[in-house]
Amino acid sequence: MYFMNGRPEPITEAQVTARLNERDRGRCAVCGCASGVLAIYPRSSVHTSSPRFDLAGLLLVCGTAVTGCRQWLSNEPGWARSHGFTVAAHHDPAHVPVEHAVHGLVLLGHDGAVTPVGEEGA
Ligand SMILES: [Zn+2]
Repeated sequence: MYFMNGRPEPITEAQVTARLNERDRGRCAVCGCASGVLAIYPRSSVHTSSPRFDLAGLLLVCGTAVTGCRQWLSNEPGWARSHGFTVAAHHDPAHVPVEHAVHGLVLLGHDGAVTPVGEEGA
């Protein structure tokens, strides 16, 4: 079991996809489209190998490695980083705002919460 060290209980990829679809309304986090094929995109390389699914570190992004926003993010790493779509490995994604196409500039919680970033903090 995974309850030692206070780690969250692991959930399946299907459950993660369902929760991301709910959070992001089934739309691409980069362009906001709802018609493309959406895939889970890890914001931080740390999370690609993590046994738990941390919703703060995951986005729904359209396209594939060679099409759509997924390709855009990999081709434009500086742009992706500056807009919060990717996060440096030493940062907690929950503390890095993302310019989300659906929600605007927000912080994404580990549990799927969405918190708008106020102008006063900028
Ligand atoms: Zn897109």
